[in-house]
Amino acid sequence: MSDTKREIPRAKMSPHERDRRSQLTQLVHGAGLLRGTLAVRERVCGKANCKCARGEEKHVSLYLVASYEGRVRQLFIPKDREPQVRRWVKQYQQARKLLEEVSLLYWDKVRRRQE
Ligand SMILES: [Zn+2]
Repeated sequence: MSDTKREIPRAKMSPHERDRRSQLTQLVHGAGLLRGTLAVRERVCGKANCKCARGEEKHVSLYLVASYEGRVRQLFIPKDREPQVRRWVKQYQQARKLLEEVSLLYWDKVRRRQE
């Protein structure tokens, strides 16, 4: 990392900040990151003789829902990709939480007029 990018020396960071940043670095460097909310939807398949058409048990599908540039998009998640997608979504949420925690530290620095 260049000197201009590293404007806060690591030694000046609190243990709390160093911890959150190293967790964040690990996620950003190697983890799948996917923003969105997983939603379970029930649907009917369209086959006339299916149990779903008789109003009994419907088919359950998993979708990833996320808004991009103001528009809500949803993506069907096939059963075999569910564990991976769940992991990527969780990792994105962890990264976002860590980023938010670091941001709060800097909010406080500005508020308390620290460097
Ligand atoms: Zn059906």
